[in-house]
Parts: sequence; structure tokens; C-alpha cells
Amino acid sequence: MLSYRHAYHAGNHADVLKHSILSLILSYLGLKKNPYTFFDTHAGQGRYRLDRTPEEDKGDSFSGIRKVLESANYPAQLNPYITLCKNLAEKLFIYPGSPEVARNLSRPDDTLILMELHPSETPVLRANFRNDKRIHIHHRDGFSGLAALTPPQTVRGIAHIDPSYETADDWVQAAETLVSVHKKWPQGILALWYPVVGRKLHELNTLKQSLASSRIPGILDAELLVTDVQSGPDGYGLSGSGMIIVNPPWTLHDDIAGFLPWLASVLGENGAGHWNLPWLSEPV
Ligand code: SAM
Repeated sequence: MLSYRHAYHAGNHADVLKHSILSLILSYLGLKKNPYTFFDTHAGQGRYRLDRTPEEDKGDSFSGIRKVLESANYPAQLNPYITLCKNLAEKLFIYPGSPEVARNLSRPDDTLILMELHPSETPVLRANFRNDKRIHIHHRDGFSGLAALTPPQTVRGIAHIDPSYETADDWVQAAETLVSVHKKWPQGILALWYPVVGRKLHELNTLKQSLASSRIPGILDAELLVTDVQSGPDGYGLSGSGMIIVNPPWTLHDDIAGFLPWLASVLGENGAGHWNLPWLSEPV
């Protein structure tokens, strides 16, 4: 049974990392004239209120996007993401989930395919994104949905894979999906988000090792840690998160390197913020 609800965490440090990278990738895709397809395998509600009660918010947006929006002199690479967040916060008092990021940064000929399995989240997603002919919403499992719907007709595109990691199976399926979808759609950009949680380090290391030995070249791993990683019985909190990117656009590594130190200093708790940006497999 699915119990994770993203509304409780929207705008946290993990969203800031994932949506800033997603915004950059969508900006690159928008530079070429040909249309592209955006897949979101785990879409959530698509957009979230910023005026949630403390019980609803749990302080997550206060240690994430709100800190970023209050900070001056952000690096230029964050411009697409921060401009979007500022506009939506000021005009509508909402935070953009990944579907809303894609809706705003895509063009009239692009296609957006959003998948969501939770029976309560899907109707909210549909209500939030009705009346846009570019957007197709599927109430289905995102892993098998992506396998079924790729390669897209546009050939160019990105799959954003953002599981809730509620089950042990999510870790295994995430790695298997990247490898199998890359085989079917070698041109596609695949961006997988993962959490860094002390008691799940074994699963995370296994995921990274299986991708490193997958023979897919040039897999980038962008990680942002906001606290020291606690192990053992204390290791329940979300210490940080990362995005694994297959087929990153060629300037993405340097662009991410341009903003990760700033994010680590703004979002790190008690000076504990740090970041890593290795290649899991070398580019050819
Ligand atoms: N991608 C969203 C964003 O960035 O705004 C957040 C998604 S949230 C981390 C994960 C979502 O996946 C939840 O809404 C959950 O209901 C949904 N979910 C869980 N298992 C799923 C599955 N097998 N297929 C599709 N959606 C699933």
C-alpha cells in the first residue's frame, strides 16, 4: 500500500536539488527547435501550496526553497529554477512539483506524459493539469509505464524517475529501469532521484554499483548532503539526496558544479552541507 504523500515535503532540500537540475536539463532541451517528450514516472500532485500548516509542512519548505528564495547572489545556473519558483510563489503562493516545472519550461509542441499510482494523488494531478492538450496523465505504475511508452515519437526527451522508495523493490526497479530503458531509448536523458538515508546506505551503494558496472557510459551523479549521515538506529532522517543522470547534456556537469557549493552552503545545517559530483561511469 502506498502511504507517502509528497505534499508534506514539497520544497525541501531534496526538491531544490532535483528541480534545479531538472530545470537546467529542460532549458537545454528547449534550445533546439525539434520537440521533445518529458516523462514523469512518479508525478505526485504536480504543484503544492506554500501556505501549508506546520503539521502539513513539517518545516520542510522552510529548510529548502524558502531559504533559497531569501538568499541573495545565487549562481546564474540556478536562474531558470529560481525565477520560476519566485514567480509562482509571488503570484499563486505555490511551489512547483516536477510536472509544474516541466509545464512552465516546455514549449507548445512538446509532450508531457505524467504517471502516478496513488489513488488519491492522481485525481489532484488531473485537476491541476486539465485543459492542456500537451499533457497526458496515466494512473499506472511508473516503472512499467516508462518501459511501455519508450522510445517516444519525438526521439528527443527526458524521463524523470522519482520513486518514493517506500519498498525495497523501488531500489532494485530504479536501477533495472535505467538500464532497460536506456537500451530501448539510447538517446533519452534519464534522471533518477535518490534519497541519502543512513539506514538505506547499503541499498544506495548497491544501486550505484549496478549502474557503474552496467556498461552505460557517462553516468553523472550529483549529490547534496545537508547533514552528516547518521548510521544505525539514528539513521532515519533524510541527510541529503542525489540525481543520477544518464546521457547528461554536455555542459551539465560544469553547470551543476557551478551551483552545488552555493546550495550546500545555503541549505547545509550548522555548516554540515557538502556535495559530490562524480561520474559513476566515465564519458566516452
Ligand atoms: N516527482 C514529484 C515532484 O518532483 O514533484 C514528486 C513525486 S513523490 C517523490 C513520489 C510519488 O510517486 C508519490 O506521489 C507516490 O504516490 C508515487 N508513486 C509511488 N509508487 C509509484 C509507482 N510504482 N508508480 C507511480 N507512482 C508511484
